[in-house]
Amino acid sequence: MNCAALVERQRAYFRSHATRPLEFRRARLRELQAAIETRERELLEALQADLHKPPQEAYASELGMVLGEIRHTVRCLPNWMKPRRGHLPLLTLPGRASVQPDPYGVALIVGPWNYPFQLLFTPLVGCIAAGNCACLKPSELAPHTSAVAAKLIRATFSEEYIAVVEGGREAAEALLEQRFDTLFFTGSPGVGRSVMAAAAKHLTPVTLELGGKSPCIVCDDSPLEITARRIVWGKTMNAGQTCVAPDYLLVDRSIRAPLVAAMARAIGAFYGPDPLSSPDYGRIVNRWHFDRLAAYLPQGHIAHGGRTSASELYIEPTILTDVPLTAPVMEEEIFGPILPVIDFTDFEETLAFLRDRPSPLALYLFTKDQRTRQRLAAETRSGGICVNDTVVHLLGKDLPFGGVGESGMGAYHGRASFACFTHSKPVVERSLWGDPGWRYPPFRRAFGSFKRVYQWMLGR
Ligand code: NAD
Repeated sequence: MNCAALVERQRAYFRSHATRPLEFRRARLRELQAAIETRERELLEALQADLHKPPQEAYASELGMVLGEIRHTVRCLPNWMKPRRGHLPLLTLPGRASVQPDPYGVALIVGPWNYPFQLLFTPLVGCIAAGNCACLKPSELAPHTSAVAAKLIRATFSEEYIAVVEGGREAAEALLEQRFDTLFFTGSPGVGRSVMAAAAKHLTPVTLELGGKSPCIVCDDSPLEITARRIVWGKTMNAGQTCVAPDYLLVDRSIRAPLVAAMARAIGAFYGPDPLSSPDYGRIVNRWHFDRLAAYLPQGHIAHGGRTSASELYIEPTILTDVPLTAPVMEEEIFGPILPVIDFTDFEETLAFLRDRPSPLALYLFTKDQRTRQRLAAETRSGGICVNDTVVHLLGKDLPFGGVGESGMGAYHGRASFACFTHSKPVVERSLWGDPGWRYPPFRRAFGSFKRVYQWMLGR
């Protein structure tokens, strides 16, 4: 693949202005919707082959999310695309101002393997809606989904508009040498740094959707059964390979034992006594990640689970207690179905603990107490907060989703996706009528009088 030639062709197509009209954008989004619906079975099979995703989970977290995003975007796009009127001070009257949403041009979207369809196509929806061309790089670690995604895109769009480049690190690096107009990357913080360094060469703006350890705090007033179910659900979907999965628990010591017991019951209720034979439980993506996760198991006391099968890439949902804070499982992003449970006795200390750690993508809190919720929101930094549930804050149509600090920069979903792929361009139009001379040299007004007139003319 000649990446330079591909980007040049896309840039020429963008410069033809074909991608700008509202009706063009909506028509392409509807075509994308139809293409996904037509290939639903193929996509679900690919997700099953790559990650053993059950169809219900794959639909809810991958296809269904993208289709919902398309419907919402098609409906709201006329409103989002309207130029916004801007205020002008007396100094610039007569005249008028607007803020015009301008597509960047040619975007590169690089996706990860854990939600290999959704995390490539949700940004694509925003990219098309904003009037850009796009080059997609799916993850090589979900090869079946990558192949179906490439087939779907090639059958639906011309390559000069939307292209797919399959492959691994080399393919990504070859693409990153090119001059794109914006970059959208989802993946690990380490690779995110390389992407940002590559973007710096061309001063290309970046959105980085990264990962990290998302803590989940459980206070002693939280009802055990529903709390346990919601934590286990967020932790075990896709076998824990979810960027916003609760990474570890911070639990009030007085309820630690009953909460662990309730979570063990929830795991049993979801996946039966032997999750290996459950059709609803996923697998680890590859042997390298399996070995990495298996090495965490001896780093604490296994309160529940702990069984593994290398040949099946299977790790049982596992709860670890008595884990030292310096153990690798508490220092690295787990990204698998292993849940360390750390006790706390004092909420102040918990806040201090969170403040000392890198800003997570998500922060979870289970409590009925309004003041505790407000303090967490006001005194900690994270991509987002979800109280009394896990993961569902991703589903709000117009809630921006993204990280801060170590967990990333920029946000998307709904209107935020449109903004993410748009440059907000102010356009000021002045009349040629009337031209008071006081602003031009030579300055005749005394300095004090000049300042007063200037502030009055600025309206400030
Ligand atoms: P990764 O960083 O290894 O790979 C992501 C993509 O980057 C892949 O397409 C890969 O081919 C490509 N890549 C690899 N090396 C590259 C390089 N040197 N330069 C440019 N691109 C390169 O991430 P992953 O293992 O696929 O995904 C797991 C990570 O992603 C976790 O940290 C997880 O938390 C994070 N994640 C974040 C979100 C989010 O929305 N914030 C969502 C899913 C995953």
